Amino acid sequence: MSKTIIVSNRLPVNVTKENGKLHLKGSIGGLATGLGSIYKQGNNLWIGWPGLLINQSNERINVTEILKDENMHPVFLAQEEIKNYYEGFSNETLWPIFHYFSQYSVYKEIYWESYVKVNQKFCEEVINFVEAGDTLWIHDYQLLLLPEMVRHKLPDLSIGFFLHIPFPSYEMFRLLPWRRELLNGMLGSDLVGFHTYDDMRHFLSSVSRLAGFGYSTGQVNMPDRKVIVDAFPMGIDYKKYAEAAASPQSIEREARYRTSLGDQQLVLSIDRLDYSKGLPQRLMAFEKFLHEYPEFKEKVSLVMLVVPSRDRVTKYQELKEEVDLLVGRINGQFGRINWTPIHYFYRSLPLEALSGFYRMAHVALVTPMRDGMNLVCKEFIASKLDKKGVLILSEMCGASKELSEAILINPNDINAMVQALYKALTMPEEEQIAHIEVMQKSLQRYNIHHWVNMFMERLEEIKTSQKSLATKYLDQKTIDNVSMKMEKAHKRLFFLDYDGTLIPFSDTPEKAIPDHELLKLLEDLTDDQRNQVVIISGRDRKSLEGWLGHLNLDFIGEHGVWLKERGSNWRTLTRLSGKWKTEIRSVLELYVDRTPGSFIEEKDYSLVWHHRKVETGLGELRTRELNSHLNYLSSSMNLQVLEGDMVVEIKSAQVNKGRAAHQWIEDFPSDYIIAIGDDWTDEDTFKAMPEDALTIKVGSTSSVAKYNLISPEEVRQFLRQLC
Ligand code: UDP
Repeated sequence: MSKTIIVSNRLPVNVTKENGKLHLKGSIGGLATGLGSIYKQGNNLWIGWPGLLINQSNERINVTEILKDENMHPVFLAQEEIKNYYEGFSNETLWPIFHYFSQYSVYKEIYWESYVKVNQKFCEEVINFVEAGDTLWIHDYQLLLLPEMVRHKLPDLSIGFFLHIPFPSYEMFRLLPWRRELLNGMLGSDLVGFHTYDDMRHFLSSVSRLAGFGYSTGQVNMPDRKVIVDAFPMGIDYKKYAEAAASPQSIEREARYRTSLGDQQLVLSIDRLDYSKGLPQRLMAFEKFLHEYPEFKEKVSLVMLVVPSRDRVTKYQELKEEVDLLVGRINGQFGRINWTPIHYFYRSLPLEALSGFYRMAHVALVTPMRDGMNLVCKEFIASKLDKKGVLILSEMCGASKELSEAILINPNDINAMVQALYKALTMPEEEQIAHIEVMQKSLQRYNIHHWVNMFMERLEEIKTSQKSLATKYLDQKTIDNVSMKMEKAHKRLFFLDYDGTLIPFSDTPEKAIPDHELLKLLEDLTDDQRNQVVIISGRDRKSLEGWLGHLNLDFIGEHGVWLKERGSNWRTLTRLSGKWKTEIRSVLELYVDRTPGSFIEEKDYSLVWHHRKVETGLGELRTRELNSHLNYLSSSMNLQVLEGDMVVEIKSAQVNKGRAAHQWIEDFPSDYIIAIGDDWTDEDTFKAMPEDALTIKVGSTSSVAKYNLISPEEVRQFLRQLC
């Protein structure tokens, strides 16, 4: 039976050592809860680091045994690896760049080498367990290289990847010296998931600019397969927080806090110690608020819980000092015998204590400079059983895309935070209830279980569609069959598209000159008197004749405008007018003026606007503009606008490849037909073929063709076999 394997840097447990004895402590994190529904079942498994340096082999065996019963398997890290892969590359290189703190990012070769090595180590562990038909779900920024490493060993495995932190804009990401390797690593997946649409957009933009793969929304077109990219905003275990808030322990905690704090209004702040969380800015905003609204002195306190984190990294130590200083300064400045403005805790608290805080707080002040999602704000909302409370939320965190009923602020704007505090502390109860209600409904629905299901279902869907595509792949058995049919046929007809079918795309159309290998292949193919080979292309007559005219080939040029049999002159099927060109050319000139790098190619009966060399993104934008510009003109002039690979071609609607191919089949009867093409103009050719013809689409997108091949390279191999 197939199984699912989860892989993340850390296992959902903490292995600790007390008095020389090993203990397991389950994680209370949302991810562990959500994925619990997966890894705890049947043969499923979670692979990761147990979070402790264990060097002795008997202890390693011991831990492995203990974890086995929990459906987990450990990856042990050496001291050097913890230092260079985890604290180094993951937390000092990737974390700052991905959170837009490029000035904190450290680029050290030794970190990178360790990152590669540890990803390989994870890969080896995965390979030991994974079998054909299994599903692998890899998590987060510590394992960006892992999808590709596993794909390399198991090309057909279903691999999902989810990034729990933001994906930065291209301008940030490109700063990393190892940017291409990291992208290629992620692209080993079938499905790449992010919290928000923005992260997904940034990723796609980096992929197209740095890795050179084309994309459409939600999909990267790799030479041999598609990678689906989508947004899956992660939710919380809603029930757990709502139930905790209703528990006697949490109610008792709240009562205890209340007794100490009196009837002041409370503003709550909970985060790990991290520069991405905007702690100094938040403290400064609270200080300014007390200056600007002195009437709130003694009436409001900030309860600030900071959870120790990464305290071996210098930047975190510096941040801790800054926060300590600010808290001291504000309390020293405003504090009275009977009132402390900030109650500051530097520790981690268990769920009941957190839940007591969530119950008690009037306002949650969640203002990260950057955060992939942020769960604290969601937990606060879920804990508000009476629906009274206000959330102030940074627009820089993923959760802000879902929680638009919160007071959204820019965390760099101290004044906006001051105003938000005032608004929150004076908000009428009905308004609070109305907002919390909407957010609770949404969080109930989009909870952690929903998130897990959505991701797994999407991955399953992709696997199914890949399987159906794989059945269309022109395999050796089918090729042998084709060869047999060919043997029996006295007259065989080939329709071969040129660009993207016989030859890969290049920057400029003139550069796609046939190489020696291709010329030899076509020569060998036409050497057999039984073969009639028609090059059916969008290219003009001059290029086709110039490159291939000396061979024994036939041609259909300009998408079916021109036809030429061996030894005869070019002819057209219909008398066409080219008068429309003057008007359309002036439109295209306008786009060339506005789009550096683009140019117009003129053919006898069509005009082509090329944007292959235009800045990524701009070409697509201009294509959309041009399309809507041409919309009206083309219908009134009976023209057809074809959008191809980095080109827009305008031609008479009277002609297409299908019509020309159909005519050709009537003029030259044959026993067996093979048609091969890569873009949607070739779909017309496929449609014009008789039932028993062999039609082959080059690429992995959908097509009416019966079979698929992946690249011009494979087309050549196939034709070579038929020679
Ligand atoms: N948390 C906790 N104990 C604490 C403080 C926080 O268990 O003393 C939990 C909190 O409930 C939340 C998580 O830590 O689930 C923090 O997640 P978030 O996404 O807000 O921030 P991250 O630390 O992942 O950047």
